[in-house]
Amino acid sequence: MTIALYPGTFDPFHNGHLDIAQRALALFDELIIGVYDQPDKKLLFSHAERIALVDEVLREVGVDGRARVTGYSGLTVNFARQMGASVLIRGLRNSVDFNFELQQAQTNHWLAADIEVICLFANAPNHFLSATLIRQIATLGGDVTALVPDCVARALRRLKYT
Ligand code: ADP
Repeated sequence: MTIALYPGTFDPFHNGHLDIAQRALALFDELIIGVYDQPDKKLLFSHAERIALVDEVLREVGVDGRARVTGYSGLTVNFARQMGASVLIRGLRNSVDFNFELQQAQTNHWLAADIEVICLFANAPNHFLSATLIRQIATLGGDVTALVPDCVARALRRLKYT
């Protein structure tokens, strides 16, 4: 049985993330969506909120019970080992992602050669989507309903921007 870990910041979880998660679930026996605690980025949602939103998305879209979400801190490969995951899933949109993911994958291989990294390419219409873009549009009052699962759109509308 192969458990895959899809790690990310997911601030917020959008349709591109969901597509990668669903395709990974079709390839592996179990999928854990791991939400990083404190990435080196300015965040819109707290760690607890990001975890709760992914959980809500999984229930809302009816993803089967082989997928679940967990928050974590520290090294991703340590968390993967702790969860019994032997595969890390990442999504690739373009060459910028590729260069970043290559270095990450090589670093992770050096840290933990027993964990394999599998990258899935973003599909249209999600290849231009990024959490940064969604945060920007939403905080400027734009409508991102078509880019995110319904519960994420509702959570963005509830936020008060100052
Ligand atoms: P991180 O801080 O780890 O980059 P993100 O939440 O931004 O966290 O992204 C998590 C993963 O999802 C990364 O592998 C990223 O490349 C991938 N990803 C982000 N946006 C998309 C998209 N539109 N389509 C497919 N994969 C994506």
